[in-house]
Amino acid sequence: MKLVFLGPPGSGKGTYASRLSPLLSIPHISTGDIFRDNMARKTPLGKKVEKYLKRGGLVPDDIVIEVVKERISQKDCRNGFIFDGFPRTAEQAIALDRITKLDMVLNLNLSEDIIIKKMSARRVCGKCGQIYNIADIRLGKFRFPPILPKKEGACDKCGGKLMQRKDDTIGVIKDRLEVYKKQTKPLIDYYKKKSILRDVNVIGPPEVMVPIILKTIGKQ
Ligand code: AMP
Repeated sequence: MKLVFLGPPGSGKGTYASRLSPLLSIPHISTGDIFRDNMARKTPLGKKVEKYLKRGGLVPDDIVIEVVKERISQKDCRNGFIFDGFPRTAEQAIALDRITKLDMVLNLNLSEDIIIKKMSARRVCGKCGQIYNIADIRLGKFRFPPILPKKEGACDKCGGKLMQRKDDTIGVIKDRLEVYKKQTKPLIDYYKKKSILRDVNVIGPPEVMVPIILKTIGKQ
């Protein structure tokens, strides 16, 4: 199955995609994770994209498309994949259409005030990218309890050190939300016209959302 998670930064794309990946036996591909990993290893790609990630701006389309083409040509993608954070522009969506045919695009909806709270409370493993949440967010019908590691500051999966993403600071979060509205939101209409868009209202933690998403994609 070839899936895309669309939605503003902080809407839960990475968290839900990482939980669904083992259930569907298809890889979770986060272009953001690929860039952060390359930055940490100081590869030529990492050095090229660093300035964009620091400011919360988008990496140029040609670089992103090249990275994605290479990634989905790998063996583990032969039965599909879950994209998280790609495509983010019309040009990327058109390029993806030329490479492959998507089954479904899941559009995650969540209000901006909750997004800002969630992103400020997000912690990620510097080694494997696993996502945690240190705050207990409750607002009306919305409930996002903390997702804490068993040992404080260390990733349950690989033992890596947990950290706050450099772009999860309030100023950069706001810039990223603006970039999303201008560049990525128009993709909702693009995929609606193709009749492959499904809306998912984000209301709670993975235990609540994963069954909803499985049902939406017809796997439960
Ligand atoms: P994310 O982890 O998806 O929030 O992405 C973090 C940052 O990586 C973004 O703010 C962009 O700077 C960059 N990035 C990730 N995916 C893309 C993409 N598809 N197109 C352009 N820039 C991207």
